[in-house]
Amino acid sequence: MKHTPHPDSYYAASANASPERPALVGVHETDVCVIGAGYTGISTALFLLEHGFRVTVLEAARVGFGASGRNGGQIVNSYSRDLDVIEKQVGPKQARLLGEMAFEGGRIIRDRVQRYGIHCDLKDGGVFAAVNSRQLDHLEQQKKLWERYGHDQLELLDEQAIRGVVDTQRYVGGMLDRSGGHIHPLNLVLGEAAAVESLGGVIHEQSAVIRVQQGAAPVVHTEHGRVTARFVVVAGNAYLGDLLPALSAKSMPCGTQVVATEPLPPDLAHSLLPQDYCVEDCNYLLDYYRLSADKRLIFGGGVVYGARDPANIESMIRPNLLRAFPQLNEVKIDYAWTGNFLLTLSRLPQVGRLGSNIFYSQGCSGHGVTYTHVAGKVLAEAIRGQAERFDAFAALPHYPFPGGRLFRVPFTAMGAWYYQFRDRLGW
Ligand SMILES: Cc1cc2nc3c(=O)[nH]c(=O)nc-3n(C[C@H](O)[C@H](O)[C@H](O)COP(=O)(O)OP(=O)(O)OC[C@H]3O[C@@H](n4cnc5c(N)ncnc54)[C@H](O)[C@@H]3O)c2cc1C
Repeated sequence: MKHTPHPDSYYAASANASPERPALVGVHETDVCVIGAGYTGISTALFLLEHGFRVTVLEAARVGFGASGRNGGQIVNSYSRDLDVIEKQVGPKQARLLGEMAFEGGRIIRDRVQRYGIHCDLKDGGVFAAVNSRQLDHLEQQKKLWERYGHDQLELLDEQAIRGVVDTQRYVGGMLDRSGGHIHPLNLVLGEAAAVESLGGVIHEQSAVIRVQQGAAPVVHTEHGRVTARFVVVAGNAYLGDLLPALSAKSMPCGTQVVATEPLPPDLAHSLLPQDYCVEDCNYLLDYYRLSADKRLIFGGGVVYGARDPANIESMIRPNLLRAFPQLNEVKIDYAWTGNFLLTLSRLPQVGRLGSNIFYSQGCSGHGVTYTHVAGKVLAEAIRGQAERFDAFAALPHYPFPGGRLFRVPFTAMGAWYYQFRDRLGW
């Protein structure tokens, strides 16, 4: 049987101990079968177990193998599109529900960490940094919009104030979200998986689902076993491939890259980010960074449309890192890795049902650390028969990518190039 380990990364190298789970063998039956052990799948499983459901999670590789175990670790609230865009796409009732949920993900993560005693280096505070005055104006608008939905913990930072949280000349200001923050992402999902098992949930690793047989009692097949369930949750996101063509047709896996420097001397680390907040800039192709618990700079950015693995990640990311922090010219990069997220045309998540008993959530296109935790909660609510909040997400329109399978990559790259060009010119 093929064995797929975690990819090499700083996170894999500093992961908490976690057991290898046996692959699925034979015939099984459960209430809910979840496909994929990233945040979406594990978070859904945990909410269901807390309400007395029997749950089996099937994971193709290891818990946290996908984006959940590789990401920048930034707890960034809200969605990848502004709430006023959402307001135009759905009715006022759904917009209100979505607006109210915009900062719920960070709360769910903190609750999980506390309730289950998860060691994942949780730190509070996230900054959106503006590289020009247009972006700063936009942050001001966003703050007003979020306040309309009751989110009033945000603080605008002028040029002097942002220098107090990050030692770079690059920004003209920003916005601090005290309910944002950062975590060791792989340790978060490993801790949540342990919580799933502590409540009687079953997780099988090295168990790629190869077929989902739809029907009154759907059957989920792997190479050596099958699970019959009342409900199925599809949580494979950018790693799902063509298992369910209806889902892959309207999304596109994209790669994004992260590096971890060598541990920085304590004074240098403190001078870069004195409050230990995480930072993401407001560009279309953004830089995002933070310090790890052992004072490495974890710096991410860049996008590879179509999710090909880039040949030399360090040479892609180092120029961006040095643009923000020229003082790190001599710093050594200890780890560099890539991971896939799922892009949708609207940049909003796709949530829905296939038939009456197969539920899915995919494609949050960024901000996924928080969104996937909200998704887990609303998927579990829908399975429990309370679908109001699930329906609010399901009301967001799904669009196929222009150019179909063959041309979606070049078409999207052209669109991104246009936005990058606008960022450079400060439009
Ligand atoms: C490099 C990188 C940096 C990022 N940084 C941030 C950040 O700082 N902040 C933020 O908010 N978001 C970030 N994101 C996005 C965020 O990580 C994702 O949105 C989120 O982790 C998605 O979680 P998921 O559970 O939906 O998918 P994943 O974590 O990708 O999990 C899907 C799982 O499903 C499994 N699977 C797929 N197909 C099958 C199958 N057929 N059978 C069984 N199992 C299957 C996969 O093996 C995988 O483990 C980043 C993403 C990447 C790639």
